[in-house]
Amino acid sequence: MTRLLTEADGDPVAIENATGKGDIVLVCEHASRRVPERLGTLGLTEQALESHIAWDPGALAVARLLAGKLDAALIYQRFSRLAYDCNRPPEAEAAMPVLSEVYEIPGNRTMTDDERQARVEEIYRPFHDSVARFVSARKAAGRPPILVTMHSFTPVYFGKPRAVEVGILHDADSRLADHMLAVATKGQVAYDIRRNEPYGPADGVTHSLIEYGVLNGLPNVMIEIRNDLIRNDIGQRVMADYLEGLLRKGAVALSAQ
Ligand SMILES: [Zn+2]
Repeated sequence: MTRLLTEADGDPVAIENATGKGDIVLVCEHASRRVPERLGTLGLTEQALESHIAWDPGALAVARLLAGKLDAALIYQRFSRLAYDCNRPPEAEAAMPVLSEVYEIPGNRTMTDDERQARVEEIYRPFHDSVARFVSARKAAGRPPILVTMHSFTPVYFGKPRAVEVGILHDADSRLADHMLAVATKGQVAYDIRRNEPYGPADGVTHSLIEYGVLNGLPNVMIEIRNDLIRNDIGQRVMADYLEGLLRKGAVALSAQ
């Protein structure tokens, strides 16, 4: 059996503020651009390894700010989505992509079945099990959480600029997304905020929402932030303030239902 992670790589999953008293549990699957040492550079340039194909720039920073404001637990993946994209099931081609936007990933082209399996066993399974266990424990303790996954997207995709600034994504359960969008589009509108954009369920991006939210009957939402808005500390704080308001109001509206 091929081993992937080394001692120096450390754990694939990190949990912060696990005992937080807030109702929300934040999940960040694309938090890191770190590549497990045995995978080297995956055949990519430094520029590609720093780009949005490797991770969601700014997403973890905003998630951490939100975790503080909402006293929410935060669970995130410590390795790049190019090693394994934890928002995809093992059978999905995009779980270990050979191509991402305009970049080819040479290190993913010639994997043996063993190497593929090692990535599933050592990156995806521990992450999936951690989130699933955490959510189950909270349910069992009589504190069923609200699941919120945090992402960012590139402002230019295949050479085309994107106007949408914040995406509120959902799958079969739109309860929380509906409330958040109602709040966001009432009165003074702060951002170009849209439902299921720039991605939606048809793009296969709702794996985590379904696994941890929908199948558990828990309210859930995926937040996609255009990454040019959260490039620096100020942008991240402004966005976290905004999302805190939407999530708090959304949660209140949910409990009033
Ligand atoms: Zn993402």
